[in-house]
Amino acid sequence: MSAGAIPTGQSHVPYRYAIAIGSNRRGRHGSPEREVAAALSALAPLSASPIIVSAPLGPSIRRFANAVALIDSAEPPPVLLARLKGLEQRFGRRSGQRWGARVIDLDIILWSGGIWRSTGLSVPHVAFRARRFVLDPLARIAPDWRDPQTGRTVRQLAARARAVDRRPHRS
Ligand code: ATP
Ligand code: CA
Ligand code: CA
Repeated sequence: MSAGAIPTGQSHVPYRYAIAIGSNRRGRHGSPEREVAAALSALAPLSASPIIVSAPLGPSIRRFANAVALIDSAEPPPVLLARLKGLEQRFGRRSGQRWGARVIDLDIILWSGGIWRSTGLSVPHVAFRARRFVLDPLARIAPDWRDPQTGRTVRQLAARARAVDRRPHRS
């Protein structure tokens, strides 16, 4: 097992997490898709969505690769976040790159414990309900997971995000 991998398939593991993985920069594994695939193997997930490649909004010319993984872990959210940040650094992400180019970004989207709020960490992730690059892959592997804040399932949130996307733009 690689360093940082989580033992899976054990029914006594107390928490389940949905982790969003994103990349928009080449790293030592290659393209953003290859970086996301390598991060998925490092996480040793119970299940993983397909990797989605999309062109970003805005002036950037970079392509994004995104996926979502489900993992079981005994770690409480801040401990898992610290491990995910260590993994980001191993993949070559430098700090201070919010919204910029980075080899890998790992966000905690949901966990089985409901709502978590502490300094520097909110679960559910505050922006995930508006992000199709999170909701579409998440709906492939956990459509019935219910967002504890809105009471909506991932399937419902994904459908809403798609509907918003289809609305004509208004000035
Ligand atoms: P966004 O959070 O909008 O997707 P980002 O992922 O680019 O932006 P980062 O620079 O990776 O932002 O993270 C900034 C901080 O967000 C992290 O240092 C972390 O403490 C905090 N954070 C809060 N909630 C979460 C969460 N659910 N998952 C990961 N990081 C979180
Ligand atoms: Ca992010
Ligand atoms: Ca992040």
